Amino acid sequence: MSTAVAARPSAEADTAHALAHDVEWVPLSIVNVYLVGPRGAGDGEWVLVDAGMPFSGGTIRRAVAGRYGTSRPKAIVLTHGHFDHVGVVKELAAEWDVPVYAHPLEMPFITGRSSYPPPDPAVGGGMMAYTSRALPRGPINLGQRARPLPTDGTVPGMPGWHWVHTPGHAPGHVALFRDADRFLIAGDAFVTTRQESLTSALTRLPQEVRRPPAYFTQDWQAAKASVRALARLRPEVAATGHGVPMRGQEMRDQLARLAHDFDRVAVPSFGRYVRDPARFDERGTVGYPPPLVEPFVGLMAGVGLGVAVGMMTGRKGVGTPHPLTPSPTGRGGTKPGPGPPPPCGGGG
Ligand SMILES: [Zn+2]
Ligand SMILES: [Zn+2]
Repeated sequence: MSTAVAARPSAEADTAHALAHDVEWVPLSIVNVYLVGPRGAGDGEWVLVDAGMPFSGGTIRRAVAGRYGTSRPKAIVLTHGHFDHVGVVKELAAEWDVPVYAHPLEMPFITGRSSYPPPDPAVGGGMMAYTSRALPRGPINLGQRARPLPTDGTVPGMPGWHWVHTPGHAPGHVALFRDADRFLIAGDAFVTTRQESLTSALTRLPQEVRRPPAYFTQDWQAAKASVRALARLRPEVAATGHGVPMRGQEMRDQLARLAHDFDRVAVPSFGRYVRDPARFDERGTVGYPPPLVEPFVGLMAGVGLGVAVGMMTGRKGVGTPHPLTPSPTGRGGTKPGPGPPPPCGGGG
């Protein structure tokens, strides 16, 4: 393989990140984007799916140049409009002079009309969750470049694929599926690492099918229905927005377990949106529950008191539940069944 960037790279030279003859995985710091279209495809013959973080432009441009030379895509397609999926969408769309497609319910968040509801640090699981209050929640404004995905389910520039509305993590979240080889671009409907942990987000370990990033999921029942719909597709490849893409029976088994046990293993024990989802319509965000400030603060105080009493009396573990997974009687912790959801990626 030549080290020079050819204007039209050869079709033979594929990289370790090729997931199919026409799909390449481009891992960025804590998120993934995908190039769809065969290596060497010309102008208008390929698509960028999602657009990374605000500083992802260089990596995406290098991957594009290595695969497509100087040719431009047909479009950019967004699985949803969260900040880590639209980081450089505005500059790339302008540079390439192409439209950006998303579900109609995501339009308010990419046309400057509405912000997403606040993230929920109370779900716990690591640094990504704990610091999520500071994450940008939009909107960005793509103006006239933003276009709704076709109502017939097709995906512009991606023949053979269709989009599947998978709300829950975001109201207009979509996954992209190709029947011919059962290839699924899942976005954040589910992921393959513990995205709540910064360590896991960066290392993409452990590699396992997991719930959508919890701090930014604001309708858990919709998220469950979406995971179940995707599991029913029995994908051969799952190319997710976070984590390492997975394929084969083991992935399908893990996805089936997540779908079946979603209430127990995915829905947080505690969190702002566990009982009441945020509400959306074509205007964007139209309502969301108040923060769990008082119970949360009270719980933390209770834990502190428990520890203090334990230290004073020399007893271990006096009333010290995990601060973020209260007993089932606590607010938002109404789930029956054994044990807390898994958790909580250590590090992060
Ligand atoms: Zn997201
Ligand atoms: Zn994401």
